Amino acid sequence: MQVTTILLIDDDDEDRLLLQKLLARVAGAHYQLIYESSYDAGLRHALEGEHDICLLDYRLGTHNGIELLKEARRQGYMRPIVLLTGAEESEIDIQALQAGADDYISKNHLQGELLHRIIRYAIERKKAEQERERLLHEQIASKELERKKNEFISMVVHELKTPLTSLKGFTQLLARRLAKDCDPHISQLVSRIDAQSNKLTALIDDLLDVTRIEGGTFQFDEDFFSFDELVEEILQDIQLTYTSHTLLREGKAGKIVWGDRKRIGQVIINFLTNAIKYAPDAGKIIVRTEANEQEITFSVQDFGPGIAKEKQEQIFAPFYRIEDPAQRSAPGLGLGLFISAEIIRGQRGRIWVESDEGEGATFLFTLPLSTTK
Ligand code: ADP
Repeated sequence: MQVTTILLIDDDDEDRLLLQKLLARVAGAHYQLIYESSYDAGLRHALEGEHDICLLDYRLGTHNGIELLKEARRQGYMRPIVLLTGAEESEIDIQALQAGADDYISKNHLQGELLHRIIRYAIERKKAEQERERLLHEQIASKELERKKNEFISMVVHELKTPLTSLKGFTQLLARRLAKDCDPHISQLVSRIDAQSNKLTALIDDLLDVTRIEGGTFQFDEDFFSFDELVEEILQDIQLTYTSHTLLREGKAGKIVWGDRKRIGQVIINFLTNAIKYAPDAGKIIVRTEANEQEITFSVQDFGPGIAKEKQEQIFAPFYRIEDPAQRSAPGLGLGLFISAEIIRGQRGRIWVESDEGEGATFLFTLPLSTTK
């Protein structure tokens, strides 16, 4: 049986004998009583000695128990304290609780079972309270760490962005000058620098978006726009850049949508570039748009490796990339779909993937039409 050690601070020896007798009779429990009879010795013992709980008499010579209680708590005493009060001290119970006692018991009502219950409850309550505090501290610390990490990433990303913007400006200037002198080989090299700095800009923009999402500052700039025109613009752009795949367009929405055109475009581009990146040999991609009275459904279907069922939710998590030797050569940070999901949810739509491994993948999103013209 586990032994519960009680530190009794009480200047009345009779109390000690009575408590000892009562506690010895409690069935199913084993108590050990350590005794101190003065304020100073009691305080010292409380702060330095090993025990599970402190029983403290209100009367302690020239001091009283509440003073000791306050001083012990002030010095960081963490164990439960139960105050023993006399008959004429009934109104000090609230004072005791306010000073940091966990419970009190009147000496007039001392009785084994009651004492046993009060001690057990005080110990268990203290444990639960300390556990709650520990969890809260942990939570605060991890939030603080998260905030610092976000701040750091955001600072690094801003620092990276400034020289990159200059680099891009100079490259474009160089390209214009060279177009006049017309050395095709050098022009080609410059346009490669330009393409690479565009990729770097896209990566940095993704990181910026993540810091905004995690910092709660991701915002939308909403207006009315034609969904079909947006799709058409993006398809033309992508088809110009990537000649390896034929983009087949099926269906139209025929709707004017209320939303952030640029952000929704970002999702469409993410779907399409992923379809090209992860199905490099497939040759074609099908882009579908459907609409009913309630919503538009847009999808991009590829004929690549597809995505296993158990990974279909995870790919929308930040920094998640499928560990597959065939996919490892594809560049990326695993942020595109996370940002896309944040955008679509922020635009009151749904986003998901339908796929069987080896059978290609179809990425879909919907946008509600309740706020459309
Ligand atoms: P990234 O492409 O930068 O890695 P994404 O968030 O866009 O980041 O995609 C997350 C992961 O989902 C990718 O790394 C890839 O493993 C998987 N994935 C995305 N699109 C496809 C697709 N069309 N076919 C197969 N896997 C895909």
